[in-house]
Amino acid sequence: MIGQALGWGTGVGAAAWVGYAWLPHLLTPLCARRGPRTGRRVALSFDDGPDPDWTARVLEILAKHDVSATFFLVGERAARAPASVRAIAGAGHEIGSHSWSHTSLWLCGPRRTEREIAQTKHLLGDLAGAPPALFRPPWGMVNAAMFAALRRHAQRCVFWSIQPEGLRPAPAEVQVAHVLRRAHAGAIVDLHDAEGTPGAPARLCEALPAMIDGLRAAGYGFATVGELLAVS
Ligand SMILES: [Zn+2]
Repeated sequence: MIGQALGWGTGVGAAAWVGYAWLPHLLTPLCARRGPRTGRRVALSFDDGPDPDWTARVLEILAKHDVSATFFLVGERAARAPASVRAIAGAGHEIGSHSWSHTSLWLCGPRRTEREIAQTKHLLGDLAGAPPALFRPPWGMVNAAMFAALRRHAQRCVFWSIQPEGLRPAPAEVQVAHVLRRAHAGAIVDLHDAEGTPGAPARLCEALPAMIDGLRAAGYGFATVGELLAVS
């Protein structure tokens, strides 16, 4: 009896989880993956920071190449490195939210999901002067509560259309070639100035100048993700 009851309970739990975490992936077309095909502009986006050292290096490279970009910051990292957040905002880049703790939303119930989004919004708003209008879910995992929470907090869900380094490390030159081969008008490129696979920020800093030069040589200009999506 108990086993049957447990089996039944597990079945209900699994069904509830599918409805809460898995089925909402059918809604991810509501999340932006790219901007409009017109205009020949691309957006560089940086996840998982801020990192006091690597984010500063990325900011230097972007300044040297006169590129504005978007940084999707993790709340608890931002709380530990407020100066980095101010430096990003001060340099005129866009700041988006990447949750508070970078936990997959598949593991977060509705209350935790609300907290991950609200707490990060308030901290980044205080540090950067304006609350983030964009949210990128960690690992690209969504749940049913996320869409309602983003509506409450006036944030838009953003994925990406080009990811030169996924779960496996890729050398800098491979990343550059990947981005240039797949570049398209309205592309949103997903990069990591912190965390990612081991050594990702160092490979990014090696790849970034050639990536920017190559995209410019191919006729692309740069916009923030927000600028790209505003004209869609
Ligand atoms: Zn991430």
